[in-house]
Amino acid sequence: MEVPGPVDVVVIGGGVIGLSAAWYAARDGASVVVLDPEPGRGATWAAAGMLAPVGEAHFGEEPLARLNVLAAQAWPAFAEALEAASGTAVAYRATGTVAAAVDASDRAAVDDVLRFQLALGLDARRLSSGQCRELEPLLAPGIRGGAEFAGDHQVDNRLVVTALLVACARAGVTVVADEASTVTVTGDRVAGVALRGGGTVAAGAVVLAAGCRSGQVGGLPPEAVPPVRPVKGLTLRLRAPASGPALVRTVRGLVHGRSCYLVPRADGSIVVGATMEERGFDLTVQAGPVHDLLDDARTVVPAVDEYGLEELTTGSRPGTPDNAPVVGRAGPDGLVVATGHFRNGILLTPVTAEAVAALLAGRPVDAAMAPFGPGRFAPEGAAGRAGTPVGA
Ligand SMILES: Cc1cc2nc3c(=O)[nH]c(=O)nc-3n(C[C@H](O)[C@H](O)[C@H](O)COP(=O)(O)OP(=O)(O)OC[C@H]3O[C@@H](n4cnc5c(N)ncnc54)[C@H](O)[C@@H]3O)c2cc1C
Repeated sequence: MEVPGPVDVVVIGGGVIGLSAAWYAARDGASVVVLDPEPGRGATWAAAGMLAPVGEAHFGEEPLARLNVLAAQAWPAFAEALEAASGTAVAYRATGTVAAAVDASDRAAVDDVLRFQLALGLDARRLSSGQCRELEPLLAPGIRGGAEFAGDHQVDNRLVVTALLVACARAGVTVVADEASTVTVTGDRVAGVALRGGGTVAAGAVVLAAGCRSGQVGGLPPEAVPPVRPVKGLTLRLRAPASGPALVRTVRGLVHGRSCYLVPRADGSIVVGATMEERGFDLTVQAGPVHDLLDDARTVVPAVDEYGLEELTTGSRPGTPDNAPVVGRAGPDGLVVATGHFRNGILLTPVTAEAVAALLAGRPVDAAMAPFGPGRFAPEGAAGRAGTPVGA
């Protein structure tokens, strides 16, 4: 394989984070190479595409909740710009979300989180059982009530990848189907990236966006290695019969303490997810999690029994010790880390792409991103550079 000549930026990883950052950097005028043996086939492929700042707000993660809200606000313009740049629809759907509690203790748990969501000023309201079923008549009659998150929307993450690949190509980005083995460093600066297949792409800047494998790329000092780990998730793709009532909103079920969701796409498919499993890099589909997920989904929406089962997909979320992304400068000059987006990488795509492009170009980064620099994990004394623009 021919190794491209020197470029301004090499992006390691062509998931939604690497591709969107590459597109933005190219729009800024940089020459860009993306390295990935299978672009778009990591966590990005398995995801459900929920854009859920409210449903994903968790106790103790307030700064992340604020970033998630900004990201959700950025999505309509991001989707529009991506569709214009690629000529490809991404199926952004502003259809909202209903949370449904199955038993009394689930109802109490939904109410607890609702109080937290409302205290953060998030867009949520309590629903009775009847109100849940007025919004989504396919919900089980026994649902004990729930909540509406009217601003939690969705996008088809697979269409987003397709569109990003076209937008990147049109902006002059070269995608090389190879793996990065090592970031090469000369003095205090990155010099390029050595490829597993041989050769080195020389570059003035390197973006580390290899998802849950971002910690495995060689050549970096310890403080620049992001503490990401794979957190396995299973999603199922179902299809409702062409005739008959269909879900409109995303449904998030709490079923005897276990979470599931159903995300209805415009094309009639429904994404059901997702498990959270600590199994290293193992992506085998085990029967038990499939059973549990289907059982929970049909408890919340009994019509699922009649749906066709089209696909089982597993992927590894890039998890971090505090469940938040790692975006900023680290280690040698010219290195930008953009990983660790865990449960919310599709949601966080627009704000991450903007932050990476800003770091590469020396523009200020949005203050909401400041808490998420790599420096928060660096050993004492090595933490100074997170969030500082590359060009500054
Ligand atoms: C089951 C599941 C459901 C999810 N649902 C949602 C959701 O509804 N909403 C949401 O916002 N988020 C969701 N997520 C999270 C989201 O998918 C991730 O946070 C996001 O996709 C991370 O994107 P990424 O580009 O960092 O990683 P990935 O998509 O994993 O991409 C990383 C890429 O790096 C490449 N790579 C790895 N090592 C190297 C190397 N050495 N050299 C070159 N390339 C390399 C891989 O081939 C891969 O393509 C879900 C995730 C899972 C698993």
